[in-house]
Amino acid sequence: MIKELSELGKTLRSRQADTEWVHDALKPEPLSIELIIDEAGNYQDFRLIEKKNTIAEAITAKKGKARLLLDKAEEVLCYGGEASKKKHELFLGKLQEYRGLPELAPVIAFYGDNKTNGLEKALSQFEVAIPDDRNRKGNIGFRIRTEGCRIHEKPAILRQIIGQYEALQAGLLAEKQKKCALCGESKYPVEDIPHGMIKKVPDGQSSGCALVSYNENAFESYSLKGNDNSSICTNCARTYVEGLNWLLSSGNEVPIKSKKGKEKTGVRYTNRKNFGSDTAMVFWTRKNKELPEIDQLEAPNPDDVAKLIESVTSGREKDSKYIEPDQFYSFTLSGSAARIVVRDWIETSLYDFQGSIAQWFKDIAIAEYDRDLKKMKTHYARIYDLARCCQRNNSDGSYDKDDASLARTATYLWNAALKNTPLPLWILTKTLQRARLDKYGVTANRAALIKLILNRNNKGGGFMIQENMEDGRQPAAYVCGQIFAKLESIQYAALGDRNAGIRERYFTYAMTSPAAAFGRLFNLSSKHFTKVKSEKPGLAVTLDKELQELCKNLDIARFPANFTLEEQGQFAIGYYHQRQKQFSSSTQD
Ligand SMILES: [Zn+2]
Repeated sequence: MIKELSELGKTLRSRQADTEWVHDALKPEPLSIELIIDEAGNYQDFRLIEKKNTIAEAITAKKGKARLLLDKAEEVLCYGGEASKKKHELFLGKLQEYRGLPELAPVIAFYGDNKTNGLEKALSQFEVAIPDDRNRKGNIGFRIRTEGCRIHEKPAILRQIIGQYEALQAGLLAEKQKKCALCGESKYPVEDIPHGMIKKVPDGQSSGCALVSYNENAFESYSLKGNDNSSICTNCARTYVEGLNWLLSSGNEVPIKSKKGKEKTGVRYTNRKNFGSDTAMVFWTRKNKELPEIDQLEAPNPDDVAKLIESVTSGREKDSKYIEPDQFYSFTLSGSAARIVVRDWIETSLYDFQGSIAQWFKDIAIAEYDRDLKKMKTHYARIYDLARCCQRNNSDGSYDKDDASLARTATYLWNAALKNTPLPLWILTKTLQRARLDKYGVTANRAALIKLILNRNNKGGGFMIQENMEDGRQPAAYVCGQIFAKLESIQYAALGDRNAGIRERYFTYAMTSPAAAFGRLFNLSSKHFTKVKSEKPGLAVTLDKELQELCKNLDIARFPANFTLEEQGQFAIGYYHQRQKQFSSSTQD
């Protein structure tokens, strides 16, 4: 896994750099503010620029290190007083290492001989020039007033950084010749120093977490074998850290509405999904391709889903030699103090990944009556709506945010979608529970989730639930669900009051103890039926005929005493299918 992260980091490096400066000693870094000085090191101005990437010295673990010429206000200006002093000194120390370069003379003067009109003036003007404190947080880079290129971007400076880096590497290499466990090379030294920190880990420390920690062998089971924590070369250590940091943070800023209706800015991550506040999943492909299939899981578009299923199916049949060489990777992670806990490592071909997504959509596809279009259509649920199907409600009907099962369910669902695996039955239990207690009952989303769970747990030729209601041999529980829906519509025809429906009172009973429940339900129904007959005789005939049709599929005299959990799921689907059919075929509901 670390090897794949390291490969990703290398891919990112070669792709991100928009200059000819591609070297391990350098790395693209964001730049937000230009500090403009003159040749003598006099302060001129601060200029806020549209945040963009610039090329600069690559440093991994920030703590105790400084980057040449490009850094935050604390380092560059000693902004923040006493607390920034140490950072500022590190910054100055780095500058000293490079003082021989003539290109640096104005900056040396800015901090040295010309300090009063240089650093001190800049510091006093910083808040004036950049009034919004949010804008003061970015990286600052020096530029000479008369020049277009920033000082840290000058070729002589970048060459010097590379030179220093290579000399250091060569020195370290000469000291200890050891092969890196990840890249298998001895081009870079294998060092026993902490690797860079991983930021934005859910529930992790804000200063970052470590993926590979030295005191514990948390990763033996992954790509590291045995007690070889120090077997990663400096280059691989840097690239895997960059790879994972990119996965956790890459995204676009989008406006989102807060709970109070306020507009704020959030991030729509491209390679990360959050499950609750404490868990996230990251995913990527070896070639770092975009993965529209992931977006489809979140917001399915029926046409695109149909195309995906079609292309996967025809691809498999047409050309068995067709092999997509790209690999898909994914894992879930959460922070635990200063370390990262990794679960569910997935590595599969892109081809199998697409196959899994296509299978997912086949499994969750369920027919739904569209009231606007007045016809049946295929409903493809959003993956989060499926997860929410079994989330507890508050008394006002809103979702109970404290129900911790949401994140857990979401994790299982994503795994099931990406790996084509079955789901645990406790999710079925929870879904049925919600279907009984919630006023919306068996919604299309719940039916889709039940279908998914039942079909994926159905090993060895049991009853497979179809998208649509189908004629033919149906299991007793399914038929009971259909009959229940029919009895409900008879009651509605008689009393007209949806709120006093039999579902609230009898659904659980009928689903768990059918023999006893249906005895009472048929009694109740005969009273309703008499009423319908006297008021709407035509409708009564139709309803009776439909009920008899359904009952034909079942030996009424032998309603089972109880239904198993799986049968309860079939009951719910029978009920759901029957109701959709009733919506579409009549106006009696
Ligand atoms: Zn290596």
